[in-house]
Amino acid sequence: MTQWKKTDDSLVRLADGSVRTMQEARALYPDFDLTRSWALPDIDPLPDEDLGTYLRRIGFSEAQLDYARRSFANATGESLRYISAQGAVAEMRDPSCGRGDFRILDGYDSLAYTQAAGLDIRLGHIVQRIMWGDQNVRVVTNHGIFTADRVVITLPLGVLQSGAVEFDPPLPADKQAALAHIRMGPGIKLVYRFAEPVMAAEIMAYYSPLNPPMWWSPSAGQSESPYLVWTALATGDYCRDLLKDGEAAALQMGLETLRKELNRPDLTPVDSYLVNWVADPYARGVYSVVTPGHSEARLELATPVDNRLFWAGEATAPHGYAATVHGAYASGKRVAQEIISLMESR
Ligand SMILES: Cc1cc2nc3c(=O)[nH]c(=O)nc-3n(C[C@H](O)[C@H](O)[C@H](O)COP(=O)(O)OP(=O)(O)OC[C@H]3O[C@@H](n4cnc5c(N)ncnc54)[C@H](O)[C@@H]3O)c2cc1C
Repeated sequence: MTQWKKTDDSLVRLADGSVRTMQEARALYPDFDLTRSWALPDIDPLPDEDLGTYLRRIGFSEAQLDYARRSFANATGESLRYISAQGAVAEMRDPSCGRGDFRILDGYDSLAYTQAAGLDIRLGHIVQRIMWGDQNVRVVTNHGIFTADRVVITLPLGVLQSGAVEFDPPLPADKQAALAHIRMGPGIKLVYRFAEPVMAAEIMAYYSPLNPPMWWSPSAGQSESPYLVWTALATGDYCRDLLKDGEAAALQMGLETLRKELNRPDLTPVDSYLVNWVADPYARGVYSVVTPGHSEARLELATPVDNRLFWAGEATAPHGYAATVHGAYASGKRVAQEIISLMESR
């Protein structure tokens, strides 16, 4: 049974040094969380507009834009100039998008194991080629060839874009255009373990004006003892900047940020680790971002090809659900219904 913890009441250390609950921080600083507490004026984005241009046009100050970069864009997976304003605003205006933040206390994989129970799932089968035609679909893997009437493709967008999986014949032009109009955001996580607590015991998250901008302790909610492990997420330009001299240099830059923020120039971790989704051949990025001018691209990616190739995964989920686990889950239910409807109509 999966257990959850709501994190809105968790304490967060702000850049001014004060400690607040998430809710207090949002009330105190109206620009604390763009997607929750900012009432955006009722001005529609232009079709080709990127989020940064749109926010400037509706009157955001440089300080507010900087916050949008550090908070919203970093969590979204790319920098403001790559994010479709139409897509982002559709997400902000969608009232069905979430009721706060939660953590799965027994680990995220418990969710996958629960969903997978009783199913025939073959791990370690690397798909290399998908051959599709009038009769069937043949999927070539490192452990043999599988034949089916139709397939559901849930490969990460970055893998599809990399060409690591060959389609024979190639995908139609409209599907290739959809793939080209969504970006797989680059992202890394920096993880540091310390011998002693580095922040007040009750603090679980920290927002920095430096790079990386978002820090939290993965021990929060799981451990009663002081939090010794701190993690930072950097995507978009933050990620590109941190990685420019390699992974070891990125870890050092992250540590320098923590040292400055905590005013502890000698702070040294017992251990550190970098997770690089850009370099992971089975991910090629963190999650998908719709680029300016292409707010329909997710829908186009989700559309079946010749009733043989069906599409699911986070990149095919609608705005507001994409780039999330629940979006990927909902896309799986959507594609199952598409195939059921097709079979019933025959
Ligand atoms: C740092 C980070 C933090 C996140 N935080 C959250 C969060 O707090 N809440 C939330 O809801 N979502 C979060 N997400 C997003 C969420 O993890 C994804 O949206 C979701 O996992 C996407 O599911 P998916 O099934 O579409 O793709 P994936 O989970 O990426 O699954 C695709 C699978 O395809 C496999 N694969 C790749 N290539 C091949 C191949 N050639 N052959 C066979 N298999 C292959 C991969 O190994 C993988 O298992 C986060 C993501 C990241 C990176």
